[in-house]
Amino acid sequence: MRTAHTITDLRKALQPLRRDGRRVGLVPTMGALHDGHWSLVEQARRSCETVVASIFVNPLQFSPGEDYEAYPRVLDDDVAGCAQRGCDVVFAPAPGEMYPSPPLARVAVRGLSERLCGRTRTGHFDGVATVVAKLFNVVQPDAAYFGEKDYQQLVVIRRMVRDLNMPIDVVSCPTVRDPDGMALSSRNAYLDADQRSHARLISAALYEAVESVRSGERDGRRVLAEAGRRLAADPVLQVEYVEIVHPKTLEPVARIDHPARLCVAARVDAVRLIDNMLLDPTERAE
Ligand code: AMP
Repeated sequence: MRTAHTITDLRKALQPLRRDGRRVGLVPTMGALHDGHWSLVEQARRSCETVVASIFVNPLQFSPGEDYEAYPRVLDDDVAGCAQRGCDVVFAPAPGEMYPSPPLARVAVRGLSERLCGRTRTGHFDGVATVVAKLFNVVQPDAAYFGEKDYQQLVVIRRMVRDLNMPIDVVSCPTVRDPDGMALSSRNAYLDADQRSHARLISAALYEAVESVRSGERDGRRVLAEAGRRLAADPVLQVEYVEIVHPKTLEPVARIDHPARLCVAARVDAVRLIDNMLLDPTERAE
């Protein structure tokens, strides 16, 4: 496995690996890699001969006061993990390599970026779309792998690829969870055991909503009220939003007659966590 810190080195490393129509898969990450990320790498390996993992904590997607400086950085462990899981190339640029000067060109996926997390994280998805577009231009992958864990990000990237005719398959991968139901996230490392016991309630509320839809509930307001009540009952959780949205437009959905996404953002003290699940009215309780 090769590790490239510069765009020039990355292009050199990839050149021989592209021969003979071999597919290149890209897994973009911010590092502190866990089983959620590894599931993306595995998925990429299934359909791509060459797998590139990028590790870059993108300053453009953090607002002042967010955790850019504190974000966990464990590059040596990440690189070792990538080698072990069969990545061919790791691209780990320094901020100055990606942004030699503040970028004047940005990619904005309007509308979608202002919903859900976009209401409080102004500019976040422009930062995400811009860095992913840059990574796509630098790596020129055939396919790119994103987790459903960051559902809005996945929808924004899909739309960017479609609107800008980028010749890349966007592949979504299911959320990997701990045995207690909590979605794996690099930010879980910020939580102590007590905080984690509160954070767990997010996935518990989501599972309960999935069950109620499975049992026949179709009224979105009732599902939201129940999930909201459960989350609000916790003295530590600060709910930012609980919404049921259309899977592509992210617009609020009142009745669950078609598959929809239930999305939550909440804070445990200073740690902001997000999670989501599919509400599928075509699934029946056993
Ligand atoms: P991040 O390093 O948090 O920017 O995440 C990089 C990629 O891994 C994104 O596409 C995430 O959606 C995905 N990812 C993060 N956590 C999980 C998880 N628990 N399950 C599946 N994918 C995940």
